[in-house]
Amino acid sequence: MNQQPGMTQESVRPRPWPGLAAIMVIAAALIAMPVEQGAAEEVNGEESQNAPGEWDLSDLYALPENWQAEYEAISNEVAGLEDLKGTLGRDAGSMLAAFDRISGVKKAALRLAVYASLKFDENRGDGPNGERKDLGEALLVRLDSATSWLAPEILAIGPQQVQVFEANEPKLAQIHGFALDNILRGKPHTLGDEAEAVLAGAGDVLRQPVNVRDILADAELPFKTVKLSDGTEVTLDQANYSKYRQVANRDDRKLVFDTFWGAWAGFQKTLGAELAAEITGNVYQARIRRFPNALAAALFTDNMPESVYRQLVAQVNAALPSFHRYLRLRRQLLGITDELHYYDIYPSMFASDRKYPLAESRRITLEALKPLGREYRDLLAGGLESSWMHAYPQDGKASGAYMNGSAYDVHPYLLLNHNDDFSSLSTFAHEWGHAVHTLLTTKNQPFEKSDYSTFTAETGSIMNEMLLQDYLIRTAKSREDRLFFIGGALEDMRATFFRQTMFAEFQLQVHEVLERGEALSGDRLTQMYCDLLKHYHGHDQGVMTVDEPYCVEWAFIPHFYYGFYVYQYATSMVGAAYFTDQIVNGGKKERENFLNLLRAGGSDYPYELYRKAGLDMTQPEPYQALVRRFDRLMDELEKLVDQ
Ligand SMILES: [Zn+2]
Repeated sequence: MNQQPGMTQESVRPRPWPGLAAIMVIAAALIAMPVEQGAAEEVNGEESQNAPGEWDLSDLYALPENWQAEYEAISNEVAGLEDLKGTLGRDAGSMLAAFDRISGVKKAALRLAVYASLKFDENRGDGPNGERKDLGEALLVRLDSATSWLAPEILAIGPQQVQVFEANEPKLAQIHGFALDNILRGKPHTLGDEAEAVLAGAGDVLRQPVNVRDILADAELPFKTVKLSDGTEVTLDQANYSKYRQVANRDDRKLVFDTFWGAWAGFQKTLGAELAAEITGNVYQARIRRFPNALAAALFTDNMPESVYRQLVAQVNAALPSFHRYLRLRRQLLGITDELHYYDIYPSMFASDRKYPLAESRRITLEALKPLGREYRDLLAGGLESSWMHAYPQDGKASGAYMNGSAYDVHPYLLLNHNDDFSSLSTFAHEWGHAVHTLLTTKNQPFEKSDYSTFTAETGSIMNEMLLQDYLIRTAKSREDRLFFIGGALEDMRATFFRQTMFAEFQLQVHEVLERGEALSGDRLTQMYCDLLKHYHGHDQGVMTVDEPYCVEWAFIPHFYYGFYVYQYATSMVGAAYFTDQIVNGGKKERENFLNLLRAGGSDYPYELYRKAGLDMTQPEPYQALVRRFDRLMDELEKLVDQ
């Protein structure tokens, strides 16, 4: 997801334009800090030839004029899709023809939108770039509304008739069968025409809580200015909080926490009413659509069993003794002699200012990903030699990093802001993981089955980060380097596996409060969040003291306004840890299992794709693979520290 290097997932938001698989960075929560220099000299000289660092958008359209011409042609085709309405039930051939035509237009529209979006992200200050991006997005919205009749029409035709058509016209089943199944399983949750129209019309109203919350949080909340021990004056808004919460001086950290959370506490009741309104909307819609609860409604899109969500929460709770061991280690390594406090969670335990120029990032990534085998390596090496990546920061360029794989007939594009630190290297390996996933998918799946879900998307990318960590730990030339890599890997797991699951558990609890018919206020939200924060961080066992003023943290997390979403950060990491373990300790079969998951793209529901690859996310085993990794890294860390 779109992400500033070194920041955690709080700043990540769900896909900006649904339907387009712009895959973004899940936070590389490794925080690079200054220490020593070394190692990268041998590659510096060849940097400029090897890595021009700019993508070539002419693979999409030779000239901006070509884009404009294509845009006009596709706009007409989008408008023409309304003609298909009412034709699908005629016979199998008509249904196939309609699906094929819609697919073709969608593929072309995505290609237009990809170009417009990438061009915009090169330089967001450029007027024509902005206008083109708006046109591209509006085209996708028009496409959505021009085909909004499709699902209702299929549901009216019904599963039996669709089956008959699929038998008569095998291509319908082969290419569009999954999409058809996906529509048909919505039948029990689809209302009558009148009710559907009312709900569609209420959509805007139901979306308001997040808008109000964002205005308050991003624009009107009065953030205070403080003076740090070195004389620096900072206004502690959201960006500066992320930057200064990790400072080495402990009194400064406490001041940062006290000030920042104090600002939120002043609006706890308002923000609580906002979040309660959002969750009320979720609960209402789930009930209206005949789901047993809001969680089931949210997981319906991916056809994800509720037991996956609940197993994740149960397994992370079972793993809290490991997490507490980590927090005790952190206290020791930060040299804290009294109680560890919640404001001690962000500073790095180890530091490194080792540089990784782009050519070095390429070399290391290729080496580190060797366990993935020949085909993976060839695809990666081929991509690295091509002009698919906009690598360096420049004026006006979009921040963060992402891979965009939505131009099916072309190739993936990657945007990075490589600044040669460790976080850049990690992001590089992550985003190229998305790119190879896309390459393997397009090689093996038609366009119609190429849009893989977030649930599977992050697995391969996080796995690349883990293989990178393992490689760097194995080959580190000094004890300090090894400590830095292990510390970073552990910190990643804290931020993703433990913290995101705590968020997921909080989301579940607050929905259940409303589902039981109880009231939800800002005070109650803070109390509930506080209980979880203390439980996860071992407050009662003396592991970490969670001071009550920080328990308003829930108000700061925008993800709580995007449904049950954050659990996928944790499950992706679980899948990544499981496959890393399988591949490193297994053979060809284990590797193929994983590659088949990537090759399968969006051809099935993510839970099924995982299961076919050998892991059942409703069972404890995959989660335990991650906890074993966490424990093993702590063993290594303790051994090094004792030396
Ligand atoms: Zn990602």
